[in-house]
Amino acid sequence: MNAPRPETPKPEPASAPTLASPVTCVWGVGSERAALLARLDIHTVGDLLLHRPRRYEDRRNFQPIRELKEGEPATVRGKVVAMGTNRFKSGKFVFELIVDDGSSRLHCRWWNLGFMERLFAVGDDVLVFGKPHLLRPRTVDHPETEKVLTDDEEQVHLNRIVPVYPATEGLSQRVLRGLTWRALQAHAAEFADPHPDLDLAAIRIHPTDDARGKQLVLEARPLLPRAEAVRALHFPAELTDADRARQRLAFDEFIGLQFEIQQRRLNFERSLRALPCTGDNRLMKPFLAELGFSLTGAQQRVLREIRTDFGGKVPMRRLLQGDVGSGKTLVAACAALMTLESGFDVAVMAPTEILAEQLARNFRKWFEPLGIAVRLWTGSRKDAADDELPISGRVLVPSTIHAPPSTSVSVTVGTHALIEAGFKPDRLGLAIIDEQHKFGVAQREKLVRKGRRDDTAPHLLVMTATPIPRTLGLTLYGDLDVSVLDELPAGRGRIRTHVRAPDALPKVWAFVRGELEKGRQAYVVYPRVEESEDDVKAVTVEFQKICRELAPHRGGLLHGRRPSEEKEAVMDSFRCGDIRILVATSVIEVGVDVPNATIMLIENAEQFGLAQLHQLRGRIGRGAHDSHCILVAEQKTDEARERLEVMARTNDGFELAEADLRQRGPGELTGRNQSGLPDFRFGDLVKDRQLVEAAREVVRKHLRSR
Ligand code: ADP
Ligand code: MG
Repeated sequence: MNAPRPETPKPEPASAPTLASPVTCVWGVGSERAALLARLDIHTVGDLLLHRPRRYEDRRNFQPIRELKEGEPATVRGKVVAMGTNRFKSGKFVFELIVDDGSSRLHCRWWNLGFMERLFAVGDDVLVFGKPHLLRPRTVDHPETEKVLTDDEEQVHLNRIVPVYPATEGLSQRVLRGLTWRALQAHAAEFADPHPDLDLAAIRIHPTDDARGKQLVLEARPLLPRAEAVRALHFPAELTDADRARQRLAFDEFIGLQFEIQQRRLNFERSLRALPCTGDNRLMKPFLAELGFSLTGAQQRVLREIRTDFGGKVPMRRLLQGDVGSGKTLVAACAALMTLESGFDVAVMAPTEILAEQLARNFRKWFEPLGIAVRLWTGSRKDAADDELPISGRVLVPSTIHAPPSTSVSVTVGTHALIEAGFKPDRLGLAIIDEQHKFGVAQREKLVRKGRRDDTAPHLLVMTATPIPRTLGLTLYGDLDVSVLDELPAGRGRIRTHVRAPDALPKVWAFVRGELEKGRQAYVVYPRVEESEDDVKAVTVEFQKICRELAPHRGGLLHGRRPSEEKEAVMDSFRCGDIRILVATSVIEVGVDVPNATIMLIENAEQFGLAQLHQLRGRIGRGAHDSHCILVAEQKTDEARERLEVMARTNDGFELAEADLRQRGPGELTGRNQSGLPDFRFGDLVKDRQLVEAAREVVRKHLRSR
């Protein structure tokens, strides 16, 4: 609100200032202002010019106060005709300013901000931006204001679209805008395109969806040169130019990231050789013959892709995406068999002990008849080498049909304990990571590194049932090839999803009992292990109630804090049908596979994210019977309601992933610190799919042409 104070010019520095020079080079920035700017993380001239406006204000046309609408943000210009402060007994006070623009009057109010009254005087020409919440009289609380000063900087602040920045106390919009204007005049031209050797001429980008505004500019436009983009970021001729400016700066961020990702991949390809792992079918044939069902078309296609990789020159790096229940484990098993046939070991890493145990069980069931040892390697259990032989009772004999492979190859299934020092595979040919999104990139690479010998590296297959929206896929997993299982095995029952309020619980329990009586089994999930202050239900408390409610059907309790042996015992009993109701936390979110379970009842469903709810729902619908997912929630907030509605509407994981990304933003979705995804200043992974794709393509062409 204060006009820039003239300051004594500083002595000219030895060389002319550049973008990298301290922000004090900008005329008007003394040490005091430099300290304020530092709070906004602005240290250099370049920082100042990349300080992104949080919105724009069109000061070519102001709205008459008389035409203001309740709840709609608007900017008006008028004169202060009265002002004063009201004090209340409670000690609270409100400062009020009345602005008149000739059409009507607007009351502006600020509560408990003592300094406001010192900023204005009757007669001041002011701009006010805010949302009127009353129309009689027209009133706006805590608006943003700016005094109009007709001086030589008028052209910066009036009669144009102006930027409004994230600001800090003591630094007015007017001052910040003036500084930026001056810095732009002197330095904008220094913003060179960071990769002049990239060919961007052919790229055309559509306006961002929400920036098209009323003008409906739909046609795609070339990228702005970076220097022009920086200018238009602050002082766009039209609002669509501000979007175009942001797009160029976002594009440069994506380019930087793509170089990093693709260079890493290229170095990898140029320095490492693959182990030949295509196998000879001597294990695969009997395996498929004994399976009892045939592979889906999608499973066959993906296996062909994997076999091609296994015969290639560079080690496979493949992401297998498939919705819950699409049969990824079986694809992993077949890939493992090819590797074993070729004389190499396999390691499979899963995010939880429960899942590792379940995978080990599946692999044992499938592989031990073929004479392949399967070891379990978790934090609490590390099968000793002698223990590698199958569980008692079963004899380790080669399949009667085929000769055994070299008996020394084996499969190790484990948790992240596999990446700790103790696990030392001999000749690791294939590393498989299930539910990859639960691990970070670093953990994945650590497992692969265990198998590095000279210039060879094992193949890598990572699997995820959390569908990744395409922008994230290209960014997070940009260095992986992608296979998709887009077909569910035939003969599955339908899954129906119902959203219910807590007062419908008696009916819900009656329904669950009915299903149990038909011979089915149920999961009941709670967000918490123990009771806490809030009224979110806890599994340990509800377990007792459910056992009484549904007696004589037996219940079992499962959560992360129970000892491994107990967890294993409960899972075993549920699997064999001894326990009919599994009362659990979200530990059962991934991987658990019991086809007879057809009910997934989730209480306090509002506490879970979309991806998590979808994973939980993926536990049912695995058998021939119809299944029901029941989400019980208060739906207090719009966001929670929307989330549950999306769940009820679709079973399609990809659709849910896009919805999740829109609702929560990419940071939340990936666990930013784990994913290593940078913080973008301009880029937006929700909206910028076309930019991400263009950046990926242009960098790919560039690197591969060298
Ligand atoms: P996910 O992709 O969620 O990991 P799973 O691998 O756990 O799925 O498979 C889900 C269930 O479907 C398992 O019981 C599995 O044995 C079964 N299954 C996998 N492939 C087929 C198929 N081609 N035909 C029939 N059932 C299959
Ligand atoms: Mg799975």
